[in-house]
Amino acid sequence: MNLRVPGPTPLPKQVREATAADMINHRGPEFKEMLAGICSGLQYLFETGNEVVLLTGSGTGGLEAAIVNLVNPGDQVVAVSIGAFGERFREIAETFGAQVTTVAAEWGQAADPDALDEALSRTPNARLVLVTHNETSTGVTNDLQALAEVVHAHDNGQGPLLVVDGISSVGSIPLRTDAWGCDIVITGSQKSWMSPPGVSMLSVSPRAWEAIESCICPRYYWDLQRARSYARKGQTPWTPAVSVLYALSAALQLMRAEGLEAIHARHRRVAQHMREGAQALGLELFADPAHVSDTVTTLRVPAGMDGDALVAKVREQGAVIAGGQGKLKGQVVRVGHLGYVDDADIDEVLRALAIALGRG
Ligand SMILES: *Cc1c(COP(=O)(O)O)cnc(C)c1O
Repeated sequence: MNLRVPGPTPLPKQVREATAADMINHRGPEFKEMLAGICSGLQYLFETGNEVVLLTGSGTGGLEAAIVNLVNPGDQVVAVSIGAFGERFREIAETFGAQVTTVAAEWGQAADPDALDEALSRTPNARLVLVTHNETSTGVTNDLQALAEVVHAHDNGQGPLLVVDGISSVGSIPLRTDAWGCDIVITGSQKSWMSPPGVSMLSVSPRAWEAIESCICPRYYWDLQRARSYARKGQTPWTPAVSVLYALSAALQLMRAEGLEAIHARHRRVAQHMREGAQALGLELFADPAHVSDTVTTLRVPAGMDGDALVAKVREQGAVIAGGQGKLKGQVVRVGHLGYVDDADIDEVLRALAIALGRG
């Protein structure tokens, strides 16, 4: 099966083999060495000098960790939400008592930096801005650099801090953590990282650490200060998902060998191939063409056809694609092309789609 959902993504052979290795002591020297290699590999791909912390949990655990370490009850938070994952991030902030102002866009569109500017003018005490860099439910990539510039223009010395859900972007498409001033960037092992699900990775800026130190929101498993102090000893506070870390370590070696620029170029090329091929089959892109994602393509289900039925027919042809999420259920299908992907994988998806649509 050609697995083309936007996570989990397929694993290269070297990564699959790495997961089969025997266990080691997670408080021993081999683990310490592996953790150091993983963190430096992540810093390279996040384009950051900030510390990177690993947590055992999926990407959503990383989002919750960011919130519980930064949000005091009643804090003002601005959530930029352009789809299902933006809504999730906003909901997590509300769950922990934030007063959230939402900057929304119609699903399929990118966030408008002017709308964020206006919202920040109305909430001068906002402590955080939450942004989904790449909205996996709609196939839209926000202009994170432009949004970050707006956030920094409102900096009153205490923030707001910029917290980025980069779960389906960093490691595939450019996310310049330091150059764009992203205080926290969150990702998950099963997206760009050619690894199984189970580990979330976060980069944390020095001023985010300061805010974390004074945050009174209760937390235990997701306590980032504890994660940092253990990381400095080459450990994690709790028993980590050792096998997933074996995979991540092997995958990062492959990614370093390929190189950041080459990885970005491959994702751009493959995404272009997917979009052109789908359009040649008569399918319409759901996302605004000016902001289409290079990691996930969202296609409108042709009139008179059911989205779930289309996914099932494509599956019969050997390719696994995803349906729509939230209010897009039944209306769109999504093809993931992040991580371990090349043009030949897209050719297979296009062939399966052509047959499923009766155009083969
Ligand atoms: C996949 C994804 C998530 C959720 O991650 P899980 O690992 O499923 O918890 C959140 N945000 C974005 C943008 C995603 O693509």
